[in-house]
Amino acid sequence: MEFNDSAEEAAWRKEVRDFLEKEYPDEFRGRAPRRGPATEGEGGTDSGEGLFRDPTKVSNPMDRWRAALSTRGWVAPAWPKEYGGAGLDTKKQFILNEEFAEFGAMNVGGFGTMMLGPTLIVHGTDDQKKEHLPSILNGSVQWCQGWSEPEAGSDVASVQTRAVKDGDDYVINGQKIWTTGAQFADKMYMLARTDPDAPKHRGISYFLLDMKDPGVSVRPLMTMAGSAIFNEVFFENVRVPARNRIGEENRGWYIGTTTLDFERSSIGSSVGIRKSIESMIKFAKENPTIAVGAKKREVQLAFADRMIEAQVAKLMSYRVVSMQNAGLVPNHEASMCKLFGSEMQQRIAALGVKLNGMYSQVIGGSPEFSKAGRFGLGHVSAVSSTIAGGTSEIQRNIMAQRGLGLPRD
Ligand SMILES: Cc1cc2nc3c(=O)[nH]c(=O)nc-3n(C[C@H](O)[C@H](O)[C@H](O)COP(=O)(O)OP(=O)(O)OC[C@H]3O[C@@H](n4cnc5c(N)ncnc54)[C@H](O)[C@@H]3O)c2cc1C
Repeated sequence: MEFNDSAEEAAWRKEVRDFLEKEYPDEFRGRAPRRGPATEGEGGTDSGEGLFRDPTKVSNPMDRWRAALSTRGWVAPAWPKEYGGAGLDTKKQFILNEEFAEFGAMNVGGFGTMMLGPTLIVHGTDDQKKEHLPSILNGSVQWCQGWSEPEAGSDVASVQTRAVKDGDDYVINGQKIWTTGAQFADKMYMLARTDPDAPKHRGISYFLLDMKDPGVSVRPLMTMAGSAIFNEVFFENVRVPARNRIGEENRGWYIGTTTLDFERSSIGSSVGIRKSIESMIKFAKENPTIAVGAKKREVQLAFADRMIEAQVAKLMSYRVVSMQNAGLVPNHEASMCKLFGSEMQQRIAALGVKLNGMYSQVIGGSPEFSKAGRFGLGHVSAVSSTIAGGTSEIQRNIMAQRGLGLPRD
């Protein structure tokens, strides 16, 4: 594996860095970077043509940022150019992500760009692509993902929400849960059971539905960090036209798994991890009366350990990226990356609490001391990192069985 950039890669890195220096809105500089949740906009084609009705009237910082990204296809860097992406290979995506994280720049992609778009590109009809891809890129339609159900999380193939054919429609009844951003989304891509008698993976279909359709109701769920990011979604006789089914009936499971092939751009967050440790250290130095733990030897040693782990996480990402660049499909290697990265995130968040002690619980009140409150919130928010995107137990199963060749039971 080559750790240094080739001449071409170094030039690409510089191009990305120069772009960020020039185009990143001043209003966002110095803010914590975010990966775009479903509530954020998205926009862009390679040429930028046709996306913004009048680009000269783009005014607010988010629109300006989206417009700048769209001129290069960087809203969806992995999508082929013909569909408005940048068609970047894995290494270039990785470098782009590294530079965005290093700069602290936010990415405007969401479920539409990361998940649905790639699925439509592979499995959608021409009409479905024409109808949905432009609005994913320009951010005018926000999507949420309706896969998990109360009895189908790790084992998504057990979904029980039913879709029954009725004339030119399907009638959908059932419930989803943990649906991120459903309260803000315009549409949902979802899995529903179309053949209850078939083996579970072979009786599921993939549908697109409108969140404003009669019979759809959304109930936000409050997390222990005090935010309502995800929801329960209920379907009561929701009619979905058959033209909104992606792919063949009962092949939805296989269509859903295609998306994973496109998820390369998520590799590369290790820079962000290093930056969050650095920002904690900066806080400790600038706030000695609050970050009282910084003087404790055990806290200092924990910082050193977290820095080593951030470096290990980076090397794991490099391994996955170099496999993808060689045309291989990482399997247990990607699980190792996800498992290590998400558990490390929790250790870093716990260190923030140790650093600030009781102050990390102060959220309101004194402006000086409530600065530390974000470490407490960060700690409880980090719990979800080992659940979302496949739990740690599932990642360990994959590593044990596929990586180490151990028996299933
Ligand atoms: C922040 C966040 C955002 C999310 N957003 C979405 C979303 O937008 N859309 C959506 O559809 N879903 C979403 N989810 C749901 C997520 O996909 C599920 O929570 C996840 O797949 C786990 O499913 P579950 O919660 O039902 O737990 P379960 O699958 O019921 O697991 C419960 C426990 O049993 C363990 N377990 C399960 N199976 C095995 C096994 N075979 N071997 C060993 N241990 C096992 C698990 O590791 C876990 O500890 C989100 C979750 C989180 C945390």
